Amino acid sequence: MSDFIKVIGGGLAGSESAWQLAERGLKVKLYEMRGVKNTEAHVTDNLAELVCSNSFRSDDITNAVGLLHEELRRMNSLIMRCADAHRIPAGSALAVDRHGFSSSVQAALESHPLVTIERMEVIDLPKDGFTILSTGPLTSKPLSEQLIKITGEEYLAFFDAIAPIAFKDTINFDVVWMQSRYDKGDGKDYINCPLTRDQYYNFVEELLKAEKIEFKEWEKDTPYFNGCLPIEVMAERGKDVLRFGPMKPVGLTNPHSPEKPYAVIQLRQDNKIGTLYNMVGFQTKLKYGDQQRIFRLIPGLENADFARLGGLHRNTFINSPRVLDSELRLKNRPNIRVAGQITGVEGYLESACIGLLAGLFTAAEACAHNLPELPPESACGALLRHITHNANSDTFQPMNVNYGLFPEIPGKIRGDARKTFYSKRALDSFDTWNSKLKSATV
Ligand SMILES: Cc1cc2nc3c(=O)[nH]c(=O)nc-3n(C[C@H](O)[C@H](O)[C@H](O)COP(=O)(O)OP(=O)(O)OC[C@H]3O[C@@H](n4cnc5c(N)ncnc54)[C@H](O)[C@@H]3O)c2cc1C
Repeated sequence: MSDFIKVIGGGLAGSESAWQLAERGLKVKLYEMRGVKNTEAHVTDNLAELVCSNSFRSDDITNAVGLLHEELRRMNSLIMRCADAHRIPAGSALAVDRHGFSSSVQAALESHPLVTIERMEVIDLPKDGFTILSTGPLTSKPLSEQLIKITGEEYLAFFDAIAPIAFKDTINFDVVWMQSRYDKGDGKDYINCPLTRDQYYNFVEELLKAEKIEFKEWEKDTPYFNGCLPIEVMAERGKDVLRFGPMKPVGLTNPHSPEKPYAVIQLRQDNKIGTLYNMVGFQTKLKYGDQQRIFRLIPGLENADFARLGGLHRNTFINSPRVLDSELRLKNRPNIRVAGQITGVEGYLESACIGLLAGLFTAAEACAHNLPELPPESACGALLRHITHNANSDTFQPMNVNYGLFPEIPGKIRGDARKTFYSKRALDSFDTWNSKLKSATV
């Protein structure tokens, strides 16, 4: 067995994993193919390049992503350290000078005495030796093929088809009702939103008028999109297509009204803790602003808050709740941990967080340290638990951090007080864990 730990892919996740390992005294070899082979989206050879926006989103600690920033800072995150050092004005968001940011991540790793950076495309997954796989949404083909052999074809996806997800407690139950079509299953698995004839055709009109995001040139030949039509494309194919597709009103009885609905939108539970519901069959490429506006026209969703809006992109991700254990190891190849966007998290910070945890878990295993369990009330813990345990594996799609992933809070606290409660509870539990972690690993 080699005396260094392999990290494959030097993006947001892999850079953070390598840093965490090296800072814990372990030798790391970080393999990055850019420099010898590029991806369709990256434009430099820098480690941790930001492929699109230069924003790490809200830095307000009462916001779930701002909270994640703070927890990562408290865990000596390289990504956060370099982001803070290259911050540029952006109100309450954390935006960075992209070149300064990625150059400083690269410089920190290049100058670390325990890190070696190899510029090469890895085409084989090591059969032994601690390894972290963090090759991202544009993992090169030979490695994806290798991964399929380990996970099984059905557990690796090459695109995402994200339907919007609403927080259950923002849905109006005076209008909607719980029932499965023809009372199948336990009879009340779905939330149903009824539309009258006028509401349905108005909804279709709005879809047709709305602004859409185009596929990027290099995304267009991804063959897999065809089986998964966005709702606006269905609407373009005919005004009644949705009513005979995902919005069919059959097998359902509205307890609030004797009038039979003309169309119904169903939402299905998205996580084990029952806080999130996804709009069934509603993958879409509408712009976010239009999604919020149009989906709030749906009876029962007038005041809905969305944990995630819909999308359809070229991506590469595994079905983590099926194929990973609780410490990010591939169940079928436990010498390999998986990190970053390829685990089905979505976003720069979420990818860095899973990279950090993969580094931490690998270091603990290599040094035979017992780690205290990450609290699910913390942002890192909620995200980890979602992808490895709480997400519904049958409908698993990429997820960003949001309060719907956290254990529910008691009572009916609303608005800003609710966010403050989540945030304080998270940081308290996180700090207790972090001090136990320090004494477990010194
Ligand atoms: C086009 C696009 C735009 C995005 N825009 C945003 C955005 O604006 N905001 C946001 O928060 N998130 C965005 N994301 C999502 C996501 O946050 C980023 O993709 C993020 O970079 C993921 O981090 P990662 O470390 O998992 O992957 P990456 O940062 O992509 O890192 C993976 C690395 O692995 C390397 N690699 C791949 N295969 C191999 C191989 N076989 N051998 C060696 N190296 C390999 C790649 O070159 C790459 O450097 C976007 C994703 C895409 C694809």
